[in-house]
Amino acid sequence: MKVFATKKEIKSYLLTLKNKKKTIGFVPTMGALHHGHLSLIKKAKKKNDVVVVSIFVNPTQFDKKEDLINYPKTLKNDTILLKSVSCDVLFLPSVKEIYNDNISSQKFDFDGLEHQMEGKFREGHFDGVGTIVKTFFEIVEPNRAYFGQKDFQQLQIIKKMVRKHRLDVKIKGCPIFREEDGLAMSSRNTRLTEVHRKAAPFIYKTLKKVRKKFGTENANYITEWVENKFKKQPLLELEYFTIAEEKSLKTIKNKESNKKYRAFIAVFAGKIRLIDNIRLKND
Ligand code: AMP
Repeated sequence: MKVFATKKEIKSYLLTLKNKKKTIGFVPTMGALHHGHLSLIKKAKKKNDVVVVSIFVNPTQFDKKEDLINYPKTLKNDTILLKSVSCDVLFLPSVKEIYNDNISSQKFDFDGLEHQMEGKFREGHFDGVGTIVKTFFEIVEPNRAYFGQKDFQQLQIIKKMVRKHRLDVKIKGCPIFREEDGLAMSSRNTRLTEVHRKAAPFIYKTLKKVRKKFGTENANYITEWVENKFKKQPLLELEYFTIAEEKSLKTIKNKESNKKYRAFIAVFAGKIRLIDNIRLKND
């Protein structure tokens, strides 16, 4: 596995591959890798000649300084995991290499997607995401880039950015990878206390019940039902639960037959904020 820390070096290396007509798959991450990340890399390996993974804890997408400072860093283990799935190139730039001395975001208009859900609770988050992903696309110039449905709003926003800015890259969404007890894998899970880790599978259990209920009950009723369920969970604090249409990400009032819906949730387990979502059947 080749490792690069500067834009200049990785660009020049990738240029030699592009000149040989090699296709490039790109998986941007913030490190503290787990099997969710690896599933994206494996998918990228199947479709591309070369897979580039970036590890960069992007300061501009954090709305809370404490979360940025405490974000887990496990580079040694990350390197082992990357080698285990035959990652070809690791891009590991410093904050200075990416932002120079100006750590700030570009402002984006994602046609309102940025104001829903996460956008309401994490100010500036999606401007930070847009800024870093666009910067990385300009450096790596991948044919395809892979993002998890775990961050479904982010995935939709990246697709929107690619369309609006006419970027020449295909965006591939990948299914959510879960622990055996159903908890969506996340780098932040390692920061859960033992009791909160035990309580956290309740999130996905509830989402699965929501999926069942969506066949017969309306969205308002289900939302209230979820809110009441969480009120009885002393270790979990619900930040939001909403049922939204996949394209607009707007909370729904009534089901329409030709649309796709998902339930989205954000929960604090102690100090750790967890998000998850589930596709709902609409028939
Ligand atoms: P992160 O390192 O958390 O920024 O995540 C990097 C990429 O991995 C993003 O596209 C995430 O959506 C994706 N990802 C994170 N966790 C999972 C998971 N449990 N299953 C699938 N993809 C994931």
